Amino acid sequence: MINKLCIIGVGLIGGSLARDLRAAGVVREIVGHGRGLGNLELAVELGVIDRAAVSSADAVRGADMVVIAVPVGAIGQVLADIAPAIGAQSVVTDVGSVKGSVVAAARDSFKQHFSRFVPGHPIAGTERSGVGASLSGLYRGRHVILTPESDTAGDAVQRVSDMWRHTGARVSTMSAQEHDAVLAASSHLPHMLAYALVDMLVRRDDHRKVFDFAAGGFRDVTRIAASDPTMWRDICLNNRKAIVEMLRQYRDDLGAMIAAIDKGDGQWLEETFARAKHAREILFPNNDK
Ligand code: NAP
Repeated sequence: MINKLCIIGVGLIGGSLARDLRAAGVVREIVGHGRGLGNLELAVELGVIDRAAVSSADAVRGADMVVIAVPVGAIGQVLADIAPAIGAQSVVTDVGSVKGSVVAAARDSFKQHFSRFVPGHPIAGTERSGVGASLSGLYRGRHVILTPESDTAGDAVQRVSDMWRHTGARVSTMSAQEHDAVLAASSHLPHMLAYALVDMLVRRDDHRKVFDFAAGGFRDVTRIAASDPTMWRDICLNNRKAIVEMLRQYRDDLGAMIAAIDKGDGQWLEETFARAKHAREILFPNNDK
C-alpha cells in the first residue's frame, strides 16, 4: 500500500500510472506537481490526482513514493529541487526514456541518499501528451525496465517493482548503459527515421500530392513522427552516443541498399527483404502493434 504517492509531471505516463494504481486500490492519496495550474486542475477534474501541490518540496514531503514523470531534460532540475525535502524512508523513481544521464543527475543531487533512487522506464506510451492523454491499462502486459546501481537499496527496488506490477506490467532489470544501447536501437532510431522521413517529404514542392496519395504503409511507419518534439529533443541530447551510433549504422546499411538498387542487384534486395520479413513475422506473429 502506498500512503502518499507524489507524481511530478502529471502527463501521459505519470497520469496513466496514477489511474492504474488508484484502480488497483493500492494508494491512499495522490498528489501532483507540475509547472503551472492548468494541467494539474484538469488532472484533479479527471480524478487522476487528489490535489495539486504548489511546490515540488511540498509535493514530496511525507510521500512514501515519488515518481518523476517530466521530460528527460527537466529531470535533473526536479531531482535537485526535491533532494532536500525527501524523507529517509521515501522511495524516488523516474520514468525517463534515457537512464545514464538520469542516474548521474540523481547521484549528484541525492548524494548519500542516492540508494533511495530507483531509475525506471516503462516501455509503453502513445504519441499523445498531457494528462488528457493519460489512460488506464496503458502498462498491462508491457515491460518496465529498472536500472538499479550496485548501491541502490534492495527494498527500494522491491517497492518500485511492486508498484509497477500493480499496473499489470512485467518488470525487468538491466544496467543503465545496456538500457540506453537497447532503447537507442528499438525506440530512438525508429523515431529518428519517422521524423526524418516526414520532414524530408514535407519539404518537397509537391508534398500535398505525395501525402494525398500516401497509403496505410506510410501511416504505419510515420505514426510516431507525431510524438512530442521536446521529449524527443531531450532523448537525443541525453543519449547522443548510442543514437549517433545507430544512425551511422543505419546510414551505412541504407548506402548498401542504394548501391544494390542502383546496380539492379535483385538477389541482394530479395535476400535482405526476406530476412527482414522473416524477423518481423517472428516478432509479431499476428501482425499486432
Ligand atoms: P507528457 O505527457 O508531456 O507529460 C509530462 C508532464 O510533465 C507534462 O504534463 C507537464 O505537466 C510536465 N512537464 C513538462 N515539461 C516540464 C518541464 N520542463 N519541467 C517540469 N515539468 C514539465 O510527457 P510523457 O509522454 O508523459 O513523458 C514523461 C516522461 O516519460 C519523459 O521523461 C519521457 O521520456 C518518458 N516516457 C515517455 C513515453 C511516451 O511514449 N510518451 C514512454 C516511456 C517513457 P505540467 O504541464 O503540469 O507541468
